Amino acid sequence: MANLNIDSIKDRKFDAIVIGSGMSGGWAAKELGDKGLKTLILERGRDVKHLKDYPTTNLYPWEFPHHGEVTAEIREANPIVNRCYAFGEDAMHFFVKDKEHPYVQEKPFDWIRGYQVGGKSLLWARQTQRWSDFDFDGPARDGFAVDWPIRYADIAPWYSYVEKFAGISGNKDGLAELPDGEFLPAFPLNAVETYFSKHVKSKYQNRHVISARCAHLSKPNQIHLDQGRGQCQERTLCHRGCPFGGYFSANSSTIPWALKSGHVTLRPFSVVESIFYDEQKGKATGVRVIDTNTKEAIEYYADVIFLNAAALNSNLVLLNSTSHRFPNGLGNDSGTLGKYVAFHNYSAHINAEYDGAKEWTTDGRNPAGGGYIPRFRNVYKQETNFLRGYAAGFSAYRYNQTTSEGIGDELKNNLKNDDLSGWKVGSHMMGETIPKESNYVALDKSQKDPWGIPKLKISVDYDDNDAKMKKDYVEQMTEMFTSAGFTNIKASVDSRAPGLDIHEMGGVRMGKDPKTSMLDKWHRLHACQNVYVTDGASMTSTSCQNPSLTYMAFAARAVDHWVTNKGKA
Ligand SMILES: Cc1cc2nc3c(=O)[nH]c(=O)nc-3n(C[C@H](O)[C@H](O)[C@H](O)COP(=O)(O)OP(=O)(O)OC[C@H]3O[C@@H](n4cnc5c(N)ncnc54)[C@H](O)[C@@H]3O)c2cc1C
Ligand code: SF4
Repeated sequence: MANLNIDSIKDRKFDAIVIGSGMSGGWAAKELGDKGLKTLILERGRDVKHLKDYPTTNLYPWEFPHHGEVTAEIREANPIVNRCYAFGEDAMHFFVKDKEHPYVQEKPFDWIRGYQVGGKSLLWARQTQRWSDFDFDGPARDGFAVDWPIRYADIAPWYSYVEKFAGISGNKDGLAELPDGEFLPAFPLNAVETYFSKHVKSKYQNRHVISARCAHLSKPNQIHLDQGRGQCQERTLCHRGCPFGGYFSANSSTIPWALKSGHVTLRPFSVVESIFYDEQKGKATGVRVIDTNTKEAIEYYADVIFLNAAALNSNLVLLNSTSHRFPNGLGNDSGTLGKYVAFHNYSAHINAEYDGAKEWTTDGRNPAGGGYIPRFRNVYKQETNFLRGYAAGFSAYRYNQTTSEGIGDELKNNLKNDDLSGWKVGSHMMGETIPKESNYVALDKSQKDPWGIPKLKISVDYDDNDAKMKKDYVEQMTEMFTSAGFTNIKASVDSRAPGLDIHEMGGVRMGKDPKTSMLDKWHRLHACQNVYVTDGASMTSTSCQNPSLTYMAFAARAVDHWVTNKGKA
């Protein structure tokens, strides 16, 4: 981190400020640094340096005090974050603990967060799919939200731009609903995944099981080596932080790259409390930060501000940025700020067994996680009683089974003589939810957080559309599994609260009309054109594809727009 002399206003004046150093903020900072703008990144959490701050990355299972399990004490103290599948002894230091950053749940909402340099990019499952015109057209076609002000053609070159730098593995599958990208070699499907893929292709029109696309360096190019990253070793211990830089994270890629430019300063432990607006100049002029160690309030100034605090926190910052001109939150002329929050729905699973392919086993591990089934419902026409659709994961595996019976030599022999199980197969649903005005976030009127900032109140729920979609997923997958000859099929539908799928979006949506949206087609606030929001808050609808690649592309495109049009906004 650069040394900061915070005594003089001159030293606190930058060309650009980026709020948040995670997946999308990292991209904004890299682009600004590359273009030579003096940039300040403000990050509320601690610094996490690539390699140095991954304390568990090289530990063997037996080196963990609890063999990877979270103790009952920690589980009980963290009922929300403990529900996240990746919250284990090996990675829990990268998650926000429930008591440390409280929020108000008007309705149950499991808000899973990573407050540190790198944000949640250290923890993600690295699934990366482009969105297609079926996604950007969706609201206009179905009328469930406002029309997106952009289409796939606007963002396609920026997908290519970020894919080349981040490194995305995948096959060119030639599917209109899941456009191809700039891929490194895909991680191959195993024997049973391939069998199911072929079966689905032969039996169903417009249904596909493809190799999951993911942000891993299956075969690095020079640009990845230039970042100091190396080939993925297929260890699948990624959420501990990868010492090879084998997967994309802000910590291994965009943030060190930005800092190397010499134009970028990173200030951790800095919660942005608000953005201030100058009425005479008609634009935002800076931000107020609370230093989380000293509780000191400090102001920083810049010509442009990129808000990348992750969807709900970006809502919070804007809601808390009030002025005479914007009494209800910065840029909130439409009254839509905080509203139309939507998310993904991962709450249905299905498992089964396959009695064939016994001559095959798996070789090594697949960091992509296996197969991906792109959305096939309501794509070309409305064919169900629910709007939009779902994608699905699909994977097959065998595992070593041992008996732990006996004592002494008998036990030792039992443990040594493991036996390979038959094939198990499984799938999980990834559904799109509908943005609704009644799904909103707001500032709590009476409660404040430890830094004196109003707590965020979350009021978000599932609806009938989600229930119908879930039912359809179970029916369709059961049919596909049955016809493939899978047996012992068991579907499970859980009653999780929204949020656990960690793809919350909206509240600061894009749109053509300033009366019904917050951001224009360049991600600028319609009413304050030197503030750009390029994280999940900006999403008009959610698609069912994973969102992070799209945030990255949006961030790079928005910086390009600012630099090209500076002064003409
Ligand atoms: C277990 C897990 C699995 C996931 N799997 C996938 C996946 O497979 N594919 C996919 O696309 N996505 C996945 N995600 C989601 C993905 O991580 C997020 O979509 C992505 O990180 C969001 O990027 P962001 O920049 O908006 O937020 P983040 O990466 O969370 O970064 C936001 C940063 O802003 C900081 N911040 C917040 N408020 C303030 C403030 N007021 N002042 C200063 N700084 C602030 C935070 O500390 C944080 O560092 C997963 C997430 C998790 C946790
Ligand atoms: S699978 Fe690849 S990216 Fe993940 S920890 Fe292993 S080497 Fe790193």
